[in-house]
Amino acid sequence: MTAHVLRPGPVHLLRLATGDDLYREITRYVMASDIRAATLNALGAVSRASLRYYDQSAKRYEDLIIDEPLEVVAAVGNVSLLDGAPFVHLHAAFSAEDGRGFGGHVNDGTIVFALEVHITQLVGEPPVRLPDDCTGLNLWG
Ligand code: ZN
Repeated sequence: MTAHVLRPGPVHLLRLATGDDLYREITRYVMASDIRAATLNALGAVSRASLRYYDQSAKRYEDLIIDEPLEVVAAVGNVSLLDGAPFVHLHAAFSAEDGRGFGGHVNDGTIVFALEVHITQLVGEPPVRLPDDCTGLNLWG
């Protein structure tokens, strides 16, 4: 286990616009605001979800597109550094009209219908993502 101790800083409340790419727009804001460490959550609705599932045996991502209107039941994520730049890591759970549920690692191509995002910027030394041989992922060092 590794541990990083930071303090809560400014809180950013965003409302994304209809048609925004959810992941790209949050990343754009994080970069523009020089947020290097943060926790974030979001809720709302999307017209399409682009997700990834990490195959733990093959150690690679499988892409999954859900091309229908969905509620964003909960999205949770963080910001840390990858290759010296802020990196947004975001997972979300979605529900469809009939209550079916989907979820996963949020990818480019998830299109916002309406979304409220709450980012708590963290003050202190940001965690840095490094390649992890055991999982094949870039994890906090
Ligand atoms: Zn992930």
